[in-house]
Amino acid sequence: MTDPASENSSSGRLIHVLDDSSLIKFCPLCAAALERKDRAGRMRVCCSACDFVHWENPKLAAVVVVPVEGGIVLTKRCEPPAIGFWCLPGGFVEPLEPPELAAAREVLEETGLHVEIDKLLAARAVDGANIVVLYYVARLLTSVALNPADDADEARVFSVDDLPEAIAFPHDRQMIHEWFAGQGAALR
Ligand SMILES: [Zn+2]
Repeated sequence: MTDPASENSSSGRLIHVLDDSSLIKFCPLCAAALERKDRAGRMRVCCSACDFVHWENPKLAAVVVVPVEGGIVLTKRCEPPAIGFWCLPGGFVEPLEPPELAAAREVLEETGLHVEIDKLLAARAVDGANIVVLYYVARLLTSVALNPADDADEARVFSVDDLPEAIAFPHDRQMIHEWFAGQGAALR
């Protein structure tokens, strides 16, 4: 089975798998050249000299609906991708970090709000990005004193009636609308 996004360059040494962030040429363990081999049922980037396999499992992100009086909290992005667009607070899970703690940490970093995660709403795969996003809903532990930082330069409460046009990620957009249509109906 081959991945249509994978290709070998004309030099035969550059191996491009899924996206530019996975452009690696040499084994991180022994520095020998990498090559594509059939491993565990599909072609994977493997070391030509040792047993290293570049397992390209999806990156995990945790993203949070934070309901507050008057709506939910969105942040305005100041880092790529989608600079200037609004999104739900969230980010990538760190190594060995439980995803619900990552979710609460990202909310604190980006909005200044202390929250505890209530429950998982959904898991969504991002088209073509090799990322899986876990969507949580959180409970606010303190008052709504927004203090944006990290990769957000603005944080605001939006009601369903004044949601911004420019929402960064299709799954965020869908989750926001689903949430207001369901559990969030009381905030209308
Ligand atoms: Zn190696």
